[in-house]
Amino acid sequence: MKYECEMIRDLLPLYHDKVCSKTSERVVEEHLKECVPCREIAEKLNNTAYDEKLKIEKENVIGAHARKVKRKTFMVGAYIAGILMIPVGVCLICNIAIGHSLDWFFIVLASLLVLASLTVVPLVAEEKRGLCTIGAFTLSLLFLLLVCSIYSGGRWFLVAASAVLLGLSVVFLPFVVYQIRLPKPLNEQKGLLVMTVDTILLYGVIIISLFYSHAGMLYLLKGLMINTICLLLPWGLFAIIRYTKTNGLIKAGICTIITGVFCAFINDAIRLVLEGRLRLCILDADLSYWVMGMGAGQPNTVDANVWLLTLIFSLTAGIVLIAAGIKKHRTDK
Ligand SMILES: [Zn+2]
Repeated sequence: MKYECEMIRDLLPLYHDKVCSKTSERVVEEHLKECVPCREIAEKLNNTAYDEKLKIEKENVIGAHARKVKRKTFMVGAYIAGILMIPVGVCLICNIAIGHSLDWFFIVLASLLVLASLTVVPLVAEEKRGLCTIGAFTLSLLFLLLVCSIYSGGRWFLVAASAVLLGLSVVFLPFVVYQIRLPKPLNEQKGLLVMTVDTILLYGVIIISLFYSHAGMLYLLKGLMINTICLLLPWGLFAIIRYTKTNGLIKAGICTIITGVFCAFINDAIRLVLEGRLRLCILDADLSYWVMGMGAGQPNTVDANVWLLTLIFSLTAGIVLIAAGIKKHRTDK
């Protein structure tokens, strides 16, 4: 044999991938005619079944590695949970020894549960870690508020809980709803679902707060009316963005105009509800005269000027955006 088997076998992968030079190709082919062991190796390389086997082996290795990482992560989570149990045990003993009853122990327990929801849960959860963490965090936080409320002899739990739920819902509900599968009609209206839940929670916070402060029926009605007026903006923007069938520029233009008009007149609308009289602040505007009117009968031209400028800029920007949207719509056609 003219060439060493070892050298030929080094060349085989290049030969198989057809990236070696013509000379090497000829040398390999000549050698394979004479050498049975090398021919077998070459055949193996050509065999697609062999490639498949390699692929499966590779996947097995990656799978095993992923399982190993998962097991390690779980162990870290379990260790943290174990470490958190130490202060729980110490506080349990101290609380019983000093107070002969379990009072502040539950506050420590609830605080550690909040900590665990953010450290242990994401590590030990098998799947949907984000969802599990948000769920555990919400429940443990509500438990902490309840325990503190009971311990301090207060009856503020519902006020705090409803406000916390609203805050968490505004931030996290879109992610939660996005990750879960809902029954068919709801699955296509996830945005509407989030808006509805947030709206209900907001009304809940207002009703609960006003009952808590013994504000009376009149304030409750006024509070609900002002809330409804304020909600017109987010609901209006949502309806335009989600349900109108027009291009993004036109939508942005309409939203800009609505927001500008809303900002310019929302204070007047709230004052109408509170005081029962309509007075348009913007009418005091005088761009050559900026003064914060504090005394009675002194117009506050700073506010009026800001609202006037807001209105002018938003109307201008809105019209420009709508015009650009119409132009784009025509060229797209
Ligand atoms: Zn050989």
